[in-house]
Amino acid sequence: MDEKLFDVVNKTIDNEANFLNHISQEIWKFPELKFEEKFAHDLLTNALEKKGFTVERNFILPTAFRAEFSSQKKGPAVVVICEYDALPKIGHACGHNLIAESGLGAGIAIKAALEEFPEIAGKVIVLGTPAEEGGGGKVTLINGGAFKAVDAALMVHPAPDDHLYPPFIGIKRKIISFTGQEAHASGYPWEGLNALDAAVGAYNNLALLRQHIKPTCRVHAIITKGGEAANIIPGHTEMQLFYRAAMTCDLDDLGKRVDACITAAAVATGCEVKIDNDTDNAYKSLMTNKVLAERYKKYAEKLGTQFDDGNPKKIPFMASSDMGDVSHVVPSIHPAYSIGTRACNHSVGFTKASGAPEAQTTTLITAKSMAMVALDLMCDKDLLQEAKDQFQRDLAEDSGA
Ligand SMILES: [Zn+2]
Ligand SMILES: [Zn+2]
Repeated sequence: MDEKLFDVVNKTIDNEANFLNHISQEIWKFPELKFEEKFAHDLLTNALEKKGFTVERNFILPTAFRAEFSSQKKGPAVVVICEYDALPKIGHACGHNLIAESGLGAGIAIKAALEEFPEIAGKVIVLGTPAEEGGGGKVTLINGGAFKAVDAALMVHPAPDDHLYPPFIGIKRKIISFTGQEAHASGYPWEGLNALDAAVGAYNNLALLRQHIKPTCRVHAIITKGGEAANIIPGHTEMQLFYRAAMTCDLDDLGKRVDACITAAAVATGCEVKIDNDTDNAYKSLMTNKVLAERYKKYAEKLGTQFDDGNPKKIPFMASSDMGDVSHVVPSIHPAYSIGTRACNHSVGFTKASGAPEAQTTTLITAKSMAMVALDLMCDKDLLQEAKDQFQRDLAEDSGA
């Protein structure tokens, strides 16, 4: 059965290669920002409908969608995810046009296999998730119930290298306001309480903290308001701060240490401080499900992928994604895969690579590998149970239990 399924998946995606490439090229040529992905939404939903899926347009969010194909028998429901938002000014510098292509390709291949082998019980859902680049489309979809009655979620992300376990880390954001007392900077500086000193002090405290956090943690801040004029002791300043960690327990701990850096600066300068936690823009860390990832690896390697996990010369792409939130709801994978460039994500070079013909070969490999993982989950109940057991263990570890 394994080999027969592999054949169907391979043939289907190879036959659809030009069609899939066309979809990805169209999205690449017409980059749209978060929540504005109308063209990509219409293109993908029309394509899925043409391929025989039952499509729900504007699903929960105006530019999200859900497309489903179910076999005759009730079985595991597997989601494959399409992203398609771009970045301001530099277009598809994160290659989300390729993520749309791989999700679409995987969906089409799974459907073909379910049609060819009607004895397989299962359902594939191609989910279009807008606004990954800030906005957290997947968080809204989770809250809207998109992952209820779903057994697993699969997605891939283009990058310079191939990492099965990319350390996508959780992120939280804070807006910090310091309030002091204005005064004439030359005439009566002793009358002032310097809110810029508080912000600079906080920034320096954070810089000192950085040496003593785990390599999987990040802290970055900017001063967004630094004062009005050099001859006025600044009475009000603001900072924007992001902090990240690989596990929820580490992120909670880092949050406390960050707050200490900020409040210490307020105390030292005699200023008031207000810390607003921007909970709308927080992403959870990615918990790559080992059972699903190892199955993905088996097929991706068979198709020629060499993974870079553990190679110290290949530093993994350590960003944050709302796929992290999905991975806390259902067993998930989110491998990073090479598209043949050394340019890093969010650069003009990566935009070029995301639209280049070289990106096609590996994107089709990811689509085939995801399709095979989904079909294995539908054919092998033990595999699904193992993935679910692993998911529970991962959740416990992530919370520090
Ligand atoms: Zn990105
Ligand atoms: Zn991205």
